[in-house]
Amino acid sequence: MRLIKIIFMAFWILLNAVILLNAKSVNHSSLSSFETKKIKVVIDAGHGGKDPGAVVNGVREKDVVLKLAKYLEEELKKAEYLDKIEPILTRDKDVYLSLNARRKIVKKHNADVFISLHTNISPTNPAASGTEIFFVTEDAADNVGIELLVNRENFVYPEDENEELANDEDQTLDFLFKDLNKRAIINRSIQLALNIEKAMANLPEGRVKYIRRAPFMVLKTLLAPAILIEIGYLSNANDRRLMQDDEYLKNYAINLAKGIELFYTNTLQKIEYSYNEKNENNNVLQKINVKR
Ligand SMILES: [Zn+2]
Repeated sequence: MRLIKIIFMAFWILLNAVILLNAKSVNHSSLSSFETKKIKVVIDAGHGGKDPGAVVNGVREKDVVLKLAKYLEEELKKAEYLDKIEPILTRDKDVYLSLNARRKIVKKHNADVFISLHTNISPTNPAASGTEIFFVTEDAADNVGIELLVNRENFVYPEDENEELANDEDQTLDFLFKDLNKRAIINRSIQLALNIEKAMANLPEGRVKYIRRAPFMVLKTLLAPAILIEIGYLSNANDRRLMQDDEYLKNYAINLAKGIELFYTNTLQKIEYSYNEKNENNNVLQKINVKR
């Protein structure tokens, strides 16, 4: 009887020790991966090479956004972001990249965030100015202005048509839209846009005027929160002047970086979306697209 009791006691102590050790090792490993996890930000300077993007009075979209992309990379490499954010450029020089090639970079790096940088033009309204942020939708553009913009940014050179069509995984938005992840990724794209909007308020000329949905092909992969930012209007004289000013572009990059950091901090606090947060995001979805 005593022997059974001793064996039972020994077994009990051993069991507790195993549980305790396991708990410790689990905590330790999850804590260290949590601490060392960097958010991989893919910064996409639109157009490039043979594709200049919008051109007004000799100012080319491809040059403006490349400069901004480099400033943003530089900013995110600074000490305050160094242990948190890893920036990755889709292009660091004046080279052409297809939309598909840009999406592949998101996939290859298993990116956490994708930001595509562009400049807008309005053929009819020279007063149109300021920043606009877009997240992807499967619906058609919701007004003629957006449709023109989408057609311009979605332009595919004939030599790239096969590549775009062959990429079924990216093309089949319907398939992804059936996936449960789709809603979470779109919600997180909106959160990213809202955090950037908050940070950009520090730069009055770069203030975000709209956060809207639009069917941009470069955002379609939906493997990570993805937004397209039209940083200003090349057709607006003041915006055009600002976009040629290095100091302005540096400040723009500083505030974009702050917005990404805000999003990152909020993401860590809200890794899981609760039912209420989802509802909150649905309200956000309904609220946006309204001119502010
Ligand atoms: Zn563009």
